[in-house]
Amino acid sequence: MVNKTSNEEEVLAKIKENISTTYTAYGITIDDDIKTYVGTEEEADKIVSDLQNEYKDKLVLNIGVKQIFGKEKIDTVEETVAVSKLKTENIDVKVAQIEEEAKKAEETKKTEGSSNQTTTNKKVVVAVRPISGGKITSRFGERSSVRSSAHTGLDLAAPTGTTIKAAASGKVTFAGYKGSYGYMIKIECDNGYEMWYAHCSKLYVSAGVRVSAGDKIAAVGSTGNSTGSHLHFEIRKNGKALNPQNYM
Ligand SMILES: [Zn+2]
Repeated sequence: MVNKTSNEEEVLAKIKENISTTYTAYGITIDDDIKTYVGTEEEADKIVSDLQNEYKDKLVLNIGVKQIFGKEKIDTVEETVAVSKLKTENIDVKVAQIEEEAKKAEETKKTEGSSNQTTTNKKVVVAVRPISGGKITSRFGERSSVRSSAHTGLDLAAPTGTTIKAAASGKVTFAGYKGSYGYMIKIECDNGYEMWYAHCSKLYVSAGVRVSAGDKIAAVGSTGNSTGSHLHFEIRKNGKALNPQNYM
């Protein structure tokens, strides 16, 4: 695991040192969600490379840096330090989730044996687009020069309150708050796939309920570790995240 205690102290000291003189900060991101802030690019690069080394064997951990300008996010040192502490703690939660997913994916691969398909035929499992319109702001598997691996879903930007519809019929298995995903819904679909809808502002269904494709299930928001109002949509099979754009 990350050597958090010493790392964190260092990070917080740097923030205090730099934020008093400049309004530029760097956010360390995992799967596009900012986990902690630092004051200099050098420090950001160092943390990213440390994290990449630490987690280089993981399948879907997406580490990057975002440059942040302006006063809103980093108005006071105290506020920034509080946010930073909170977000750093979330890194461990996220990594634990990813490790579990990687383990499940590995087990699935074993049970499937060597009958791996090499063709990537597009298979439509999304009967209804989860939101109408919705500009794509981050694609599945998206990488940048500072990332070690990929985004686990598709980000569709839309105003807070926009209706989210069930993309396929099935049973709601989770409706509630879940760490960096914020308010989210998981649906075990009749077609054998699992679909996740994250960062919601409101949830209209609860676990155990059956939904049909097109049913209103939630509203777009920015809960959890999100930097703007959008739907994070995932399609999964046997615990493994798939590229939603190959299924819609
Ligand atoms: Zn996302």
